[in-house]
Amino acid sequence: MSSPRIGVLALQGDVREHLGALRAVGADPVPVRRRPELDAVDALLIPGGESTTMSHLLRELELTDPLRARLADGMPAYGSCAGMILLATEIVDAGAEGRAAIPLGGVDMTVRRNAFGRQVDSFEGDVAFAGLDDPVHAVFIRAPWVERVGPGVQVLAEAAGHPVAVRHGAVLATSFHPEVTGDRRIHRLFVDIVTRKA
Ligand code: GLN
Repeated sequence: MSSPRIGVLALQGDVREHLGALRAVGADPVPVRRRPELDAVDALLIPGGESTTMSHLLRELELTDPLRARLADGMPAYGSCAGMILLATEIVDAGAEGRAAIPLGGVDMTVRRNAFGRQVDSFEGDVAFAGLDDPVHAVFIRAPWVERVGPGVQVLAEAAGHPVAVRHGAVLATSFHPEVTGDRRIHRLFVDIVTRKA
């Protein structure tokens, strides 16, 4: 696959930053808001934002089942923060009934929403990231952490004793926001996964 079509789910959240970060590593990403746009992409990035709001919009736009089906079918994906939550198979503290964040699958993991955010909503720090020589400066904003990973899930980074970056096959998820730091290594890794170089 020489130039894969990478979509960025563009319902809510930091869509523009991810489009820019993907362009910076040589991809030509497109926003995805509708079913035909989802059908047309080879891979999908789900940005940070608010997972309950994104889930509400996914329901409204009837994208939940198509997205689940694409993930079950092996579509490569990357989710950051709220995106990580949506890529889980199970969510702890998913939100009020009827408005709860929807686990779409993709990574066999249990994720706790707003895990870090009880006292301190946001913090940043350097974390070692498997496969990268230098640590990643990770920015956490009302971030989730991972409480359980299933077999086949690789933990790529940890903070506060919990996984904060994982990979399951062609699906990558981070609790933090690489799009805000100017460090493009995570977006490059995602594009390498999509093009099967990683
Ligand atoms: N707390 C948000 C949620 O539950 C995630 C925050 C973020 O994406 N920065 O979706």
